[in-house]
Amino acid sequence: MSGVKLTNVKKSFGEVDVIKDVSLEVPKGEFGVFVGPSGCGKSTLLRMIAGLEETSGGRIEIGGRDVTDAEPARRGVAMVFQSYALYPHLTVAENMGFSLSLARAPRHEREEKVREAARILQLTDHLDKKPSALSGGQRQRVAIGRAIVREPEVFLFDEPLSNLDAELRVQMRLELTRLHRQIGATMIYVTHDQVEAMTLADDIFVLKGGHVMQSGRPLTLYDDPDNRFVAGFIGSPA
Ligand code: ADP
Ligand code: MG
Repeated sequence: MSGVKLTNVKKSFGEVDVIKDVSLEVPKGEFGVFVGPSGCGKSTLLRMIAGLEETSGGRIEIGGRDVTDAEPARRGVAMVFQSYALYPHLTVAENMGFSLSLARAPRHEREEKVREAARILQLTDHLDKKPSALSGGQRQRVAIGRAIVREPEVFLFDEPLSNLDAELRVQMRLELTRLHRQIGATMIYVTHDQVEAMTLADDIFVLKGGHVMQSGRPLTLYDDPDNRFVAGFIGSPA
């Protein structure tokens, strides 16, 4: 069963072909990581899956449904960004429940979902605080909480840890792995950090120059890279 499937997806900005021809599949419930150097088109690809950017060609399917031309809100995805822009005047609980208030979810349902997300993210004791009273890691967890309450079929993460210091990144990686086990949703995670990719992924997709250079299990790429680029980027020192 396919979680997210891209078939011959392309994207050009004017004359520039940023995504040349990408076909890939992240199976339902798996953790897929797109990794590649800065500027290779990772965010563009993720934004197309989210519906924030139109495709220039190809097909995008989520859970077997063709969503290529679907509104973002109808795709069953929630995206977590690197700059997590929480509302400073709202509490943690209000920040997490905000999208549900927009969707006019009943108050008790909203509170229940926020409580459950807070439990998963160990934010229960912080629900009444303002973001300014939180650490960087806690703020990032609130941003993830905003996605969790929407109960998406697919979580999309765009370098969510890159503003955090090294120690916190290690901790948040473990938490993301735990979150994935607990929730079981399909997750796609974009990063330029090879260690993040190796430790988080069920499957890695190495992007370069608008193509997938190689994809597979982390250890397969590490032990058996197809080419010099993958070897240099991920693989064992030859
Ligand atoms: P990554 O996330 O891998 O660093 P991006 O997807 O952000 O890469 O960008 C890939 C390329 O596409 C870059 O060269 C960037 O300048 C270009 N690009 C991204 N968005 C736009 C846009 N809206 N208009 C023009 N060029 C863009
Ligand atoms: Mg990016």
